[in-house]
Amino acid sequence: MARKVAVVAIGGNSLIKDPKHQTVPDQYAATVETCTHLAAMIAHGWDIVITHGNGPQVGFILRRSELSRHELHEVPQGAIGYMIQKALYNEFRRRGIKKHALTVVTQVLVDKDDPAFKNPSKPIGSFMTKEDALRRQREDGWDVIEDAARGWRRVVPSPMPKRIIERDAIKHLVDHGYVVIAVGGGGIPVIEDENGDLVGVAAVIDKDYASARLAFRIHADLFLISTAVEKVALNYRKPNQRWLDRMTLSEAQQYLAEGHFPKGSMGPKIEASIWYLENGGKEALITNPENIERALRGETGTRIVPD
Ligand code: ADP
Ligand code: MG
Repeated sequence: MARKVAVVAIGGNSLIKDPKHQTVPDQYAATVETCTHLAAMIAHGWDIVITHGNGPQVGFILRRSELSRHELHEVPQGAIGYMIQKALYNEFRRRGIKKHALTVVTQVLVDKDDPAFKNPSKPIGSFMTKEDALRRQREDGWDVIEDAARGWRRVVPSPMPKRIIERDAIKHLVDHGYVVIAVGGGGIPVIEDENGDLVGVAAVIDKDYASARLAFRIHADLFLISTAVEKVALNYRKPNQRWLDRMTLSEAQQYLAEGHFPKGSMGPKIEASIWYLENGGKEALITNPENIERALRGETGTRIVPD
């Protein structure tokens, strides 16, 4: 069977099961869980590029560096790639899969005049109560929002990805059989200065948008989004909630316009899937880690397909 290529986007939130399980060992356990399903996918003939979010993790790092600001300079980077790399190494060994996973530190070009810099919208960090959120807003100047009816969170600017700088290298590695972990946390946002040099900027690129662009760039057969829900719903968490098995591109556009998919959570996944399909992508699939194999067999998950 000819191998097919998928970009698999793992949610940062899906690596944190609940507020009591946030430590690195807990996150690693969740990573291992997810990676058993990815290894199964690979064993079934898929070549994959893994991308991942890091909203909660970046929040921890920011908080850590805020607490030590009086003594040490602040740092912006996480290490989820390492966890995935290690988990896959072990899983491949266990299953006798002759593959190697490696992480590519990925820079993503954004427009320095992107309106997002004036309008922060991307949730990062832990959930807070409304009182804590409003206090942070007053005392620390944070921008905060209510996130998908799950609590309050800090938001930062989220400019649109324009170009994945390392895209040719990523494609080359996939074509040569490597399992690549790329655009971690949406990639590192950079702008071009007047000389054409890259300069880092303080922002978070949405990993769903960046992953869709990568899927398009490397001509992936599938854009798979692994998150904390088995399926996408209409009227999510309302009495008339309805789980979806499948939507066409036009239906996805319609439901999005009707407000079924909130900005900080399901919205970017649907928008990214729409962008991918509009640009010639074949299929987007949204499910949770434990259902990846079943979803690939067509038994669950929500598929978004061209009209
Ligand atoms: P990730 O970290 O994977 O990007 P997010 O928390 O950003 O995850 O987005 C996924 C979450 O969106 C789901 O876990 C669910 O709580 C929420 N959500 C919001 N609207 C919907 C919807 N219409 N259908 C399903 N889930 C939804
Ligand atoms: Mg998200």
